[in-house]
Amino acid sequence: MCVKSPWEKALEFHGHVCPGLVIGFRAAEAGLRELGLDPAGAPGADLVCVVENRACAADAVQAVTGCTLGKANLVVADHGKHVYTFGRREAGGEAVRVSLTAPVPGLEELHALQGKAFNEPGEENRRAFARKREEISDRLMEMPESELFQVRRVRMETPVRQRVKCLAMCGRCGEYVFEDRTADQGGRVLCPPCAAG
Ligand SMILES: [Zn+2]
Ligand SMILES: [Zn+2]
Repeated sequence: MCVKSPWEKALEFHGHVCPGLVIGFRAAEAGLRELGLDPAGAPGADLVCVVENRACAADAVQAVTGCTLGKANLVVADHGKHVYTFGRREAGGEAVRVSLTAPVPGLEELHALQGKAFNEPGEENRRAFARKREEISDRLMEMPESELFQVRRVRMETPVRQRVKCLAMCGRCGEYVFEDRTADQGGRVLCPPCAAG
């Protein structure tokens, strides 16, 4: 069986190499290591991650840790920040917070090249953007972790475990909805959009 490395998993999941993917990948590696977990192994079912953005880095965190939205062990608290917190339920809320502390080298130049590739589509502009993106990604991959991140111990409120939920039929639209999300309005069980409308 071909075993993929954590980086290969992140790349396959996200689809391209970019600075954000590298930041998320390295943050996940640092977080898992600090929790005594091996990124190359199965990080464990009790792991919980909080990512503070909805950008490329979040994909790397999901691919490396195995935490996902569907399992409810990935929480997105979208503050638009490169901050990643990793904790274990069994450790009673003990967690590690990893935040980006270094300015990403060449990011302004990358934005300019992206704008150019978008406004003046063409092979040459597209390549220049892709080259720069890769160049910055390589640099981020090689930067010492202590320069890239601040890593500190924190406490985290772990989200409720995902459980099997019952379904109910909404009394207005007739569609099925998780029972714990329904509202009772005058004896009618309604889904959130119907209850709000
Ligand atoms: Zn990306
Ligand atoms: Zn409804």
